[in-house]
Amino acid sequence: MRTSIENRLHSLPWVETRKGAHVARAAMLMLTAQNEVGHTCPVSMTFSAVAALRADPDLAAAWEPRILSASYDLRFLPSGQKSGVLVGMGMTEKQGGSDVRANTTRAERIGNSREYLVTGHKWFCSAPMCDAFLILAQTPKGISCFLLPRWTPSGERNAFYIQRLKRKMGNRSNASSEVEFNGAWARLVGEEGRGVQTIIEMVNCTRLDCATASAALMRAAVAQAVHHARHRQAFGKLLIEQPLMQNVLADLIVESEAATLLTSRVASSFDARASSDEERSFARIATAVAKYWLCKRAAGHVGEALECLGGNGYVEESILPRLYREAPLYSIWEGSGNVICLDVLRTLAKEPGSLFALLQEIRLGKALDKRLENFIAQLEASLHRQAQHGSEGGADLQREARMLTERAALLLQASLLIRYGSSAVADAFCASRLDREGGLTFGTLPQGADVTAILDRVSVNLPEG
Ligand SMILES: Cc1cc2nc3c(=O)[nH]c(=O)nc-3n(C[C@H](O)[C@H](O)[C@H](O)COP(=O)(O)OP(=O)(O)OC[C@H]3O[C@@H](n4cnc5c(N)ncnc54)[C@H](O)[C@@H]3O)c2cc1C
Repeated sequence: MRTSIENRLHSLPWVETRKGAHVARAAMLMLTAQNEVGHTCPVSMTFSAVAALRADPDLAAAWEPRILSASYDLRFLPSGQKSGVLVGMGMTEKQGGSDVRANTTRAERIGNSREYLVTGHKWFCSAPMCDAFLILAQTPKGISCFLLPRWTPSGERNAFYIQRLKRKMGNRSNASSEVEFNGAWARLVGEEGRGVQTIIEMVNCTRLDCATASAALMRAAVAQAVHHARHRQAFGKLLIEQPLMQNVLADLIVESEAATLLTSRVASSFDARASSDEERSFARIATAVAKYWLCKRAAGHVGEALECLGGNGYVEESILPRLYREAPLYSIWEGSGNVICLDVLRTLAKEPGSLFALLQEIRLGKALDKRLENFIAQLEASLHRQAQHGSEGGADLQREARMLTERAALLLQASLLIRYGSSAVADAFCASRLDREGGLTFGTLPQGADVTAILDRVSVNLPEG
């Protein structure tokens, strides 16, 4: 936590004036998450909270200096007495996490102020040691967003009670809890009744981080697998020299590189969106597409990398079990797979600019590789069909939402690889993922894939032991 905070993983784009800060931060997150991803949850929430807090300039002015501080201050003290603070998030309740409009936690206004007393329960509240939380609660005007600190402004402990820590399958370095608010003091953020719109600014940033963390898990896993295969012998040869193992490793590398490029491109749209409508539209849809696809691919990818180590991969001394338990998480939080795909449909229907921006970006690859043409035409037809229907379309359209999102992700990755990747990786990706010459598992790249060139791209030198 200290290393991440002191190196501004929680704040870089908000404090850096040079261009490209979101990309630089995504690169930092890629590296950090390969070491230890659990702790990046509070780091990510603290970073993302700033985007939502800025809906309320007074509140932002009061909290930002300590949120953006590069000092990691563990002490449990009123925020005013601390050099740096962390911010968490409380949306999910027992009766539902995806459908936050069903929240029953309620907030009662104190007089005519922007201060409220909040009563209710949150079923998931990660990093409960945070100094404040952005939460959702009902008011007479509907679901609203609040900043709920651990201490009241008068310096008393707020009525925020941790009831239980979750026993999670993975992500153990990050505590997740169930919490109760019993008339807890909180400050309204944004307008009453517009809580989802306010907190969505935070959610979009954390969704980008979920995609980046998934790319990091894939990179960490493939580095371990390639390293092992370069040192382990079977049947008289190193594993890396065995043709079938080469196919598996090359396929994992292709997936990892495609993931890294996609998440980096989405991060760059976060940098550019303030000055470009097109980039803002692209960011809106591409964040959801990347969040869905990279988080989905991570679990299968890490599982396959684990198998490259044989039985040793299943044993805790290798780091693969930890990566494997972590991998499904990013697909669940900040919008599970289906919810994200429905969000893609909603965006297509409500923001025509996003459809244009997505297709425009994909088409940039067409100039360099004609193979994309047919696929783009098919995707374009499906996207237009979805865009013409209301918010989430009918049942048939909803059933297609995963397929549509997957195709958009694959074409985006193909276009990026063609422009920025190695030709060996781009060719293998297009042949196996677009032309569908590959199979459904990793290790099924078609004949002709330049596995040697692809394997040469991963040079790892892991410390012994
Ligand atoms: C380790 C961990 C930490 C977490 N930390 C936090 C936290 O700090 N703060 C917080 O607020 N939450 C947190 N969460 C909660 C997480 O965000 C929710 O679990 C998630 O949003 C899903 O909500 P749910 O569990 O209520 O599932 P549900 O909303 O019940 O969804 C169940 C399934 O139904 C699908 N589904 C939902 N609606 C539809 C639909 N219309 N059509 C088709 N399918 C649908 C979903 O995709 C999902 O697969 C955490 C979760 C985990 C696992």
